[in-house]
Amino acid sequence: MSAVLRSTMLAAARSPRLERTITRLPLSRAVVARFVAGTTTEEVVRATETLLRSGRFVSIDYLGEDTSDLAGAEATLAQYRTLIAALGALPRSEVAPGAVRPLEVSVKLSALGQALPNDGHAIAREHARQICAAAEAAGIWVTVDAEDHTTTDSTLAIVRELRADYPWLGAVLQAYLRRTEDDCRAMAGPGSRIRLCKGAYDEPESVAFRDKAEVDASYLRCLGVLTAGAGYPMIASHDPAVITAAGVGVQAAQRKTEEYEYQMLYGIRAEEQQRLAAAGNHVRVYVPYGDQWYGYFMRRLAERPANLGFFLRALVGT
Ligand code: FAD
Repeated sequence: MSAVLRSTMLAAARSPRLERTITRLPLSRAVVARFVAGTTTEEVVRATETLLRSGRFVSIDYLGEDTSDLAGAEATLAQYRTLIAALGALPRSEVAPGAVRPLEVSVKLSALGQALPNDGHAIAREHARQICAAAEAAGIWVTVDAEDHTTTDSTLAIVRELRADYPWLGAVLQAYLRRTEDDCRAMAGPGSRIRLCKGAYDEPESVAFRDKAEVDASYLRCLGVLTAGAGYPMIASHDPAVITAAGVGVQAAQRKTEEYEYQMLYGIRAEEQQRLAAAGNHVRVYVPYGDQWYGYFMRRLAERPANLGFFLRALVGT
């Protein structure tokens, strides 16, 4: 996709006016269902059971971001409590302490209040702490998503702080940020779970690589740092070149299957997910659900011309 079209799509992803228009289109729900596993806890739990039965793990994201009031942040926290309780009630085999947990939730700190004036950082940290406590009791992992670069320092500080009590707490690093190779070095220590992705926001040249080849090269450098480190790399990409390089890297580092995992998004390259799982790899699917699908959906359209084409074809009814 051209850089201009991608930037335009990503700007649209943050436009409340376009959100009102697009979410009212009668076709939207059916089209969105390709990337989003429903709007209710019951629907996402059903999708989870199907994925677990197929030998894949899950990370579930309650959609929503950029919460602008405390009530919204508290409502998100309540949704995560309900979700974790429902996941905790699923029948599953015992997971040994320290072992890979098949169930995980992903959280966006901006949905938990990070952008609220004055004490947003502390509010988001407290909400995230409560989610970690509930998840720990239910035998579920948590990973904190990465959002735009203005939030990175606050987000990583919160992760570092919460890891004192919840050492399994994961963080996401975005290879398109110029700082990320250093962040990988700083965060590749024992027990550290890092999900490495390319990055999905429209970032300025001053902080991010904007050229695709540069982003891809950065991803491979960062992956090399994580694979050589002592933590648990989570390789979040659909890119065949990344998946091949990761396979070579983990072999060279003599990592066992339970010492890394592949991750992909719900509805994207499902056959490749199955192939990797059938070959004995751990594969986790990031499963979003909820009413506030607009920003997430638009970022998926911005990633790939075929995704945008799929939406436009549905729009004109062909
Ligand atoms: P791209 O460079 O987009 O694609 C490379 C190649 O992958 C394509 O050429 C094609 O061969 C293949 N491919 C990609 N999409 C498809 C498709 N639909 N069908 C078939 N082939 C395809 N971003 C954030 O900014 N913050 C986050 O917290 C975050 N969390 C994520 C969690 C997970 C588990 C994943 C998988 C991604 C996450 N992302 C996040 C999104 C990520 O940053 C990228 O925007 C997204 O994954 C696309 O990059 P890519 O690595 O798949 O490769």
